[in-house]
Amino acid sequence: APVLEVRDVTKTYGGHSATTHALNGINLTIAAGEFVALMGPSGSGKSTLLNCIATIDAPTSGTIMLAGTDVSRISRSRLADFRREKLGFIFQDSNLLDSLTARENISLPLTIGRVPAAQIEADVVAAATSLGIEEVLDKYPYQMSGGQRQRVAAARALVTSPQLVLADEPTGALDSKNAKLLLESLESMNQSRGATVLMVTHDETAASYCRRVLFIRDGRVFTELDRGSDSCHA
Ligand code: ADP
Ligand code: ADP
Repeated sequence: APVLEVRDVTKTYGGHSATTHALNGINLTIAAGEFVALMGPSGSGKSTLLNCIATIDAPTSGTIMLAGTDVSRISRSRLADFRREKLGFIFQDSNLLDSLTARENISLPLTIGRVPAAQIEADVVAAATSLGIEEVLDKYPYQMSGGQRQRVAAARALVTSPQLVLADEPTGALDSKNAKLLLESLESMNQSRGATVLMVTHDETAASYCRRVLFIRDGRVFTELDRGSDSCHA
């Protein structure tokens, strides 16, 4: 089964007087191991779609299948566990906890999931190594650069080996050098560990790392770019 299947998803906000049709019939499928960019103008429905896929918001109609499960059939009490087990999140701001070291921040999803300590350490080091941030593991967020913080956040998203990583403008707060480092890290996580990534971005450079780019407008996927197997970025 595909990692993600979105079928005929609509989302309408508001009551009778002022309704907004944020999503107007979204269809998309993402297979395991893909690294896909989602682009579109402000107000086109990117956040709404990402929130629905993240199980933070629910579509008005349509179906979202994540790793073979119809997310609308997951009970409220199971939803937080499902999200933690199946999904990884990377935001524009790294959202690290200031009072914890990088190692502790990256460990967090595993600690909550009751993974044995030795396994946690091995997983944290593996994630940090593939993102090139081993040297900051004992540092606190204020001791790191913005780019390092964002790669720590990426390590935290990837450490559980989630089925799907959702990245919302992950390079939005980074300068071009750090953006490149983050994108190369995501690309290597995708290639070496088979991480499946859906990345919302405004940035053409960021999108150039993705083989597939979906363009959304007025709540619809209106075109799609598939670069084939060639890698296109410089
Ligand atoms: P971006 O364009 O960066 O994706 P937005 O500014 O569209 O972000 O939205 C930021 C947040 O505000 C989102 O969580 C979105 O759901 C919410 N939001 C956007 N538009 C409205 C609105 N008209 N009413 C209430 N909340 C909104
Ligand atoms: P994008 O992320 O592409 O900027 P959004 O998904 O945030 O787009 O918004 C899509 C449309 O839905 C916009 O018209 C926005 O104003 C509206 N919208 C988003 N969130 C809300 C909300 N919570 N309440 C009402 N309208 C919203």
